[in-house]
Amino acid sequence: MAGDEENPMKDLEMFIKELAEKNDVDPQKAIHIFKIISDPGNTEGYSDDDIEALTGYKQAEIRRILRLLYDARIARYRKGIHPSYGVARYFWSVDSNSINYMLLKRKREVLEKLKQRLEYESSNEFYRCSRDGSRYTFNEAYHNDFRCTRCGSLLVLEDNSAIVKALREVVERLEREIEEDERKVYGS
Ligand SMILES: [Zn+2]
Repeated sequence: MAGDEENPMKDLEMFIKELAEKNDVDPQKAIHIFKIISDPGNTEGYSDDDIEALTGYKQAEIRRILRLLYDARIARYRKGIHPSYGVARYFWSVDSNSINYMLLKRKREVLEKLKQRLEYESSNEFYRCSRDGSRYTFNEAYHNDFRCTRCGSLLVLEDNSAIVKALREVVERLEREIEEDERKVYGS
């Protein structure tokens, strides 16, 4: 969890993997195509034919993946004449502004979840079963007479200050990162 936001490329690959899985597309192929079109040497864009030649994937599959990446605002295209075929083709590349914006949006979502978790951890008291590790909030423990619902053992008050401290550190670091990213994305 804490390491993900440090590598934007990894985060983006995770996003593409999830996107592909949700749409019944092979995630490895989607990531492969993304890597091809995001290559820094790709200044003119790659056509479907170019990608087919590079990967051996079926045209229909390639188009489907490009369309997904386009809808997610990761890929963009320009229309032009293919230098080898002399016919009109779409040339695909990545939209780095839009990618930066999307990554920032995802970081904000992660931050929001972490803040909620921090709030939950710091505003509740937790009880733990020393036998099987089950965890209960004060209310849950109270309603079960401070006994574990699984094994009946007496529950003990848990010191979650280490969890709270770790969460607070991640939240603060992510907030600083987001501030930096915002300066890059919105350019001030
Ligand atoms: Zn138990």
